[in-house]
Amino acid sequence: MEALIQQAAKEIARARNVVALTGAGISVESGIPPFRGKGGLWEKIDPMEVAHIDAFLEDPARVWLLLIQDMGHLLASAQPNDAHHGLVALEKQGRLTSIITQNVDGLHQAAGSSRVVEFHGSFATVSCLKCHTKQPIKNCLTGELPPLCDCGGVLRPDCVFFGEMIPMNAFHAAQAAVATCDVMLVVGTSATVQPAAQMPVMAKQNGAVIIEVNLDSTPLSHSISDYMIKGPAGNSMRQLATAANEMRSDGS
Ligand code: NAD
Ligand code: ZN
Repeated sequence: MEALIQQAAKEIARARNVVALTGAGISVESGIPPFRGKGGLWEKIDPMEVAHIDAFLEDPARVWLLLIQDMGHLLASAQPNDAHHGLVALEKQGRLTSIITQNVDGLHQAAGSSRVVEFHGSFATVSCLKCHTKQPIKNCLTGELPPLCDCGGVLRPDCVFFGEMIPMNAFHAAQAAVATCDVMLVVGTSATVQPAAQMPVMAKQNGAVIIEVNLDSTPLSHSISDYMIKGPAGNSMRQLATAANEMRSDGS
């Protein structure tokens, strides 16, 4: 494990442009359950059904009750962990240029990362389906469901539901980051939600080295990843950032 971390850190230290792709697993140590795997929300409800835009439009009160309110409360008190801080450290070292995150929890920004592409939007705000006015989600965590705008329209979180398009600006920013990176860190993602799961494949096709950090193997682990660092993201990212910091930029 030590040796693997050292080798992966060497790749980071040698790189000109490191980009990270993160998923729900990076926030598990902050107390936010992932959708899949042990302890995941998946075990209680079927998010493919509940977190689908059609389910929301059909019965917004139900989706607010089953998914959005609990998630909103959870995110309101969550704090970044060592994995988020490790990515901040790599940015400060001048190595990491951007983070593409599938998470909607805002923890990368809370930790201090400055270039974060929110591929699946954000849970920080809600928008009115009728007049599109935005407001903080914290206004909607108590009271009648579904929460309504002053105009009477239903409010929705500014995340991307299943069945919805990725926001154009996020999609383009992610593509640009993927096209120019020479190392991609893939942290805590099951790599099964498209089109995010395509990013490491595209990066690899462009010649980037793929360093995966996850508790378990994923579809990438044996085909796409050059390094698979198994274990909780906090510990691995702290060690990677420390090791990279101790190396000169030629990796020695
Ligand atoms: P996922 O739920 O499909 O998979 C989570 C992955 O994290 C798994 O591969 C699991 O092995 C790994 N993992 C779990 N604990 C870990 C740990 N401590 N350290 C390292 N890895 C760990 O997550 P996904 O691939 O990101 O896709 C699910 C979708 O659900 C995303 O689109 C995301 O928008 C949404 N989601 C977001 C949040 C959040 O914002 N925190 C939480 C749940 C779901
Ligand atoms: Zn409105």
